[in-house]
Amino acid sequence: MPRTTPNHPRTPRARAAWIVTVTLAGLLTGAAWAQATAPLRVVTTTAMVADTVREVGGACADVVHLMGPGIDPHLYRASAGDVDRLGRAELIVHNGLGLEGQLGAVLDRLGSRVPTLALAEAAAEAAAAGASADADAALLDGEDDYAGRADPHLWLDAELWSHAAAAAADAIAALRPDCGDGVRAQAAAYAERLLALDAWATASVAAVPEARRTLVTSHDAFRYFGRAYGLAVHGVEGISTESEASIADIRATADLVLATGVPAIFVESTISPRTIEAVLAAARDRGGEVAIGGSLYGDAMGEAGTPEGTLIGMLRHNVITIVTALGGQVAPWPDALADWAAAWNLP
Ligand SMILES: [Zn+2]
Repeated sequence: MPRTTPNHPRTPRARAAWIVTVTLAGLLTGAAWAQATAPLRVVTTTAMVADTVREVGGACADVVHLMGPGIDPHLYRASAGDVDRLGRAELIVHNGLGLEGQLGAVLDRLGSRVPTLALAEAAAEAAAAGASADADAALLDGEDDYAGRADPHLWLDAELWSHAAAAAADAIAALRPDCGDGVRAQAAAYAERLLALDAWATASVAAVPEARRTLVTSHDAFRYFGRAYGLAVHGVEGISTESEASIADIRATADLVLATGVPAIFVESTISPRTIEAVLAAARDRGGEVAIGGSLYGDAMGEAGTPEGTLIGMLRHNVITIVTALGGQVAPWPDALADWAAAWNLP
């Protein structure tokens, strides 16, 4: 991470303001001083990454993201405006591990002149450092079209993603040293909330009868989720959505639905429901009693200004939808997240 120094003020007026600010800084506490400096301009790819950086950065970071609700990151192409926005950022944060498949070349090119953090990769490294294993142990290997590469969908494992908070804090602190203590404290608090969410998700999925703990979705976004919370997972499409589901994929998924007897399969917010509807029709044709259990947030969050427009809310929605449709009962919401729920007027 390159270090930066504050720009020298170019005009006399700016210079005077700068001197006042620097003088005041001696009188201010660390938190107040952090707010007195300009927020770091951060541009992220996905909204999950943006939410994490916002939670950690607070007033120290001004965060915008390129990919809104319903946008598939595997297929997303940068517009001229996006390239311009990324080029003017002080820090670019993307997921990495090939998630933003079509953006790879743009990110590589900009990475030589704009500080850039691949947050999922950093989270895996931090998780591995804490567990005295290597980063590969935290990451799942890809399959089929994604063979030889790591699965990028880390944010769906709240414990694993909790390590992203410290990585985001380090990147902000490197560019805004005065923010260091504040963002590290916020990262620790956010990681605690993610760990509470993780424990709740584990307890909730454990209430699903064991024979029904199979999660069938549009594409393979949920392998980390399944590993973390104890569900076998099967996506009709592979880890990336870059190649479309074939008739054989649909038939194989219908076979699996019939063999396991799962009562529900799930569509995803970024993917056309047609493939899951085809699986449903194929399974029902052969006597299967199966329904669509709801829509999950795999590769994008919900609308901004709703609970599902946050990482905690997207995971909460997924757990409630999956556990309920598979015949389990959701665990009591954790006390550590009572404030979060109250802020959204949720029980
Ligand atoms: Zn995906």
